[in-house]
Amino acid sequence: MMFIDSPMLRALYSLPILFIVFLSWTIVFFFYKGYIFLVQCTLLNSIVYISFHTSLFLMYWSYYKAITTDPGTIPPNFKITSSSSSLEENDRIKEEQYCGKCEMERPSRCHHCHICNRCILKMDYHCPFIGNCVGFFNIRYVCQFMVYASICSIFVGSCCGHLFVVNEGEASIFTMCGMLSGLGLSAALPALAAFDCWLIVNNRSVMELQENTFDNKYDLGDGKKNIWQVCGKSILGYILPINTKYEGDGINYEISVNYCQEELKETEKASEEI
Ligand SMILES: [Zn+2]
Ligand SMILES: [Zn+2]
Repeated sequence: MMFIDSPMLRALYSLPILFIVFLSWTIVFFFYKGYIFLVQCTLLNSIVYISFHTSLFLMYWSYYKAITTDPGTIPPNFKITSSSSSLEENDRIKEEQYCGKCEMERPSRCHHCHICNRCILKMDYHCPFIGNCVGFFNIRYVCQFMVYASICSIFVGSCCGHLFVVNEGEASIFTMCGMLSGLGLSAALPALAAFDCWLIVNNRSVMELQENTFDNKYDLGDGKKNIWQVCGKSILGYILPINTKYEGDGINYEISVNYCQEELKETEKASEEI
């Protein structure tokens, strides 16, 4: 995570994080007062209770990891290695992969964040709610956070909603607040979680989508291989936000075979036309 010198700025950047913590605890409070304290201790309610608290614990753990994990930046003394035999092509790559702000050459898929004031590996976007950039090394934690936050909101919305229906609309203010906040978040969070999963499975980044680069040369054509690049192969690592070894390093990227074949065809076609 970036280091900010000014205490004032640090406090300002922490506000959205405090807002998320406050919002989540308010909803948990609604869930306790509007559901857990009102229902009897049955087997089903015990399962709901344990599942909800497990999801809540994993949500905060993922959130902590998303905040504190460095998304990755340009390694010191990084130099672009010549990838083409053409000098002009190499010059073009060097120009594209040079950051004027950092005054350094940078790897492919690396972008400069104006808030962190540094280049981020496979940058997606700067997220004020984690006070950090979303990039190569923390996209997995952001995705896990969104998934567990979705599960928690579905629990709150559906349980309070169920109690509201059972009581034929005569529910406490806490049940009503729990139902409305839970259902509202259930409508938004799963869509964001699905988008993050889609980015990982298709080896995409938000910056590349904004640049309208529809030819995704980094999509290896196999969702599994794309996932391994930023999530590793450990099944446990897909469930828990633990440190695992990734297949990729955020600097070098394998290019899709299909993309290379298409490029070759285009070059052959162009040379035939000449
Ligand atoms: Zn930069
Ligand atoms: Zn940033």
